[in-house]
Amino acid sequence: MNQDTWTYLLAAGIPAALLVAVSTVLVRRRGDKAEADDAAPTTTVAEPPTAEAAAERESVQTPGKPVADASVDELAPLPTDEELDVPATPGDLDIQLEKPAPVEGRFARLRGRLARSGSPLGTRLLAVLSRDHLTEDDWDELEETLLLADVGAGPTGDLIDALRTRVRVEGLKDPAAVRAALREQLIALVDPSLDRSLNLAPGTAPDGTPTPAVLLVVGVNGTGKTTTVGKLARVLVAEDKSVVLGAADTFRAAAADQLETWGSRVGVPTVRSDRDGADPAAVAFDAVRTGKASGVDVVLVDTAGRLQNKAGLMDELGKITRVITREAPLSEVLLVLDATTGQNGLNQARVFGEVAGVTGIALTKLDGTAKGGIVVAVQRELGVPVKLVGLGEGPDDLAPFDAADFVDGLLES
Ligand code: GDP
Repeated sequence: MNQDTWTYLLAAGIPAALLVAVSTVLVRRRGDKAEADDAAPTTTVAEPPTAEAAAERESVQTPGKPVADASVDELAPLPTDEELDVPATPGDLDIQLEKPAPVEGRFARLRGRLARSGSPLGTRLLAVLSRDHLTEDDWDELEETLLLADVGAGPTGDLIDALRTRVRVEGLKDPAAVRAALREQLIALVDPSLDRSLNLAPGTAPDGTPTPAVLLVVGVNGTGKTTTVGKLARVLVAEDKSVVLGAADTFRAAAADQLETWGSRVGVPTVRSDRDGADPAAVAFDAVRTGKASGVDVVLVDTAGRLQNKAGLMDELGKITRVITREAPLSEVLLVLDATTGQNGLNQARVFGEVAGVTGIALTKLDGTAKGGIVVAVQRELGVPVKLVGLGEGPDDLAPFDAADFVDGLLES
């Protein structure tokens, strides 16, 4: 190539490159706008009932027909930021709101549910350990018991090795001493050093304004996701936090009703769409905007988990996350897992871990399974801590997880 050719290419190439760069920005802008339009308000804020609102509804509504049943067309547009009031707190309302049980000490109070779930784990472990002299068969039985409880092969091997070493080195003979050593080893396996607190610190929006903490709740339908969001709202209310719920599980119409009912019992408003199959990202966006405008502490967003294929799940959760983070940073992504699902649950955890950037696990239905060992397995699998556990269907049967209480619950018999 001679000098003239270079000169020509430079002269023609620079404007062409500029043209490509400018049109890329324009296309991206258009893409952003299209996404923002997708997320345009199609939702309503279902405020908790005030006394006046209740009276008004009585006079204008068909009895039994909730306001949220109105079709999207009939609904007023989302209130502007100025029109939004700070959501009513329980103390502001004349009507009777429920007072959630205190959160402090909840796990200790509920841990009997672990033992009562018919868990043979504690009973079987202790039966073996109460033998005077532990034979090879006894150690095998211990190992099998832990494996049956879904502790997983690696952690089980580690625990048995550590316990055998202690029994030998410390010369433990007394069953009570062996039991105490087992308790310590189990606690170490569950890892008490992990930070299990929820990140509820206020955030800062891209434009520098303060934002509520935003918690996104993900998981397969049927695992107890909506119930957990409802119970978590109560946990937060019990801790004097103000909350807005976002019903972004738009696949199942009943999920929004279910969530709204949970919220209204404790004076927490729900942002929802009344259209089946509405864009979940739009609902999530409106929930965060509403929470921001009304200055609440926490926005909790429920999502649908019906998508069985990874690409679809990734697209949907990716869009929800992008749209939310335009308004506020995400504080937590909580994965709800059903403890009774064993290996299948672990596979789900793996997929969600890959696509959703999970920061904590809420393990439900621990009251209905002998497989409490999944706590250990799932933490190892995802490298994130179990932060909450569901121990029943009651409204306050959700507790912050605590390693020692958990192990004591397992070993109670
Ligand atoms: P989603 O489809 O994931 O939103 O699941 P739901 O929240 O609708 O819950 C499915 C079922 O699991 C409901 O019957 C809940 O009451 C039940 N459930 C949720 N958490 C627990 C729990 O910790 N223990 C028990 N026993 N049942 C639970």
